[in-house]
Order: sequence, then C-alpha cells, then structure tokens
Amino acid sequence: MNLLPEALQRLFSRPATRRYPKQRPSLPPGFRGKVEWKKETCIFCMLCAINCPTNAIVVNREQKTWSIDVGKCIFCGKCHDVCPTNPKSVDNSDKFELAGPDKDKFKETHKK
Ligand code: SF4
Ligand code: SF4
Repeated sequence: MNLLPEALQRLFSRPATRRYPKQRPSLPPGFRGKVEWKKETCIFCMLCAINCPTNAIVVNREQKTWSIDVGKCIFCGKCHDVCPTNPKSVDNSDKFELAGPDKDKFKETHKK
C-alpha cells in the first residue's frame, strides 16, 4: 500500500486539531462547565444538594453557606434544573480548565 499520496495531501491540508491553548475552542450552546452559585437569590432550600448525584454540594441553612467539591462534580446540570429560584441560583458556567494537583483546591465554600 502506497501511503505517499495521502502523506503529501496531509502535508498541505489544514490541521484537524486546534492550537490550544493559544486558539480557544468555541463552546456549544448549553455547555456545562464549572458550577457557580449566586448568593443574591439563593433561598437555601437545599434542593441542589439533595438532588446532586455525587453529593458534591453541601448547603448549610443555619450558617448560610453553600459548598461544592468541584472534584466530585460530573457536570450533569441537575442542580441547575432543580433550583426553584428565578433567576436560577446555581448554574454551569463556561469554565472548563479545572485540573490541578491539589485536591483541596477543588473544595469551595461560599457565604451569603
Ligand atoms: S452539575 Fe451535577 S454533579 Fe455537579 S454539582 Fe450539579 S448536580 Fe452535582
Ligand atoms: S437549589 Fe437553588 S435556591 Fe436551593 S439551595 Fe440550591 S442554589 Fe440555593
């Protein structure tokens, strides 16, 4: 099998990959990135925590805190779907570069 014609064709065609991170990807509508909380509208109903399939969210009504372990999140969007406030108090942002060597840095606690 002679691969030379294909090799020459590939040599002069545009690459199939992007030059990430220099060239940023365009994210599709409805992309589910890092979950973010809005303290202004949250009523501490705990529905996001109860419905999170990986127990990534912890809500403390008394202390008015909302915590997430981003390392546990599977970006399913369920917390957003069940949040009863309008506008939603929890949403998937477009942040996706979340990797890091320190697991403790995935844990965030926010206070109202
Ligand atoms: S996106 Fe899914 S896994 Fe992540 S915090 Fe929300 S409900 Fe939990
Ligand atoms: S579901 Fe919405 S309103 Fe209820 S605790 Fe979670 S973020 Fe707050």
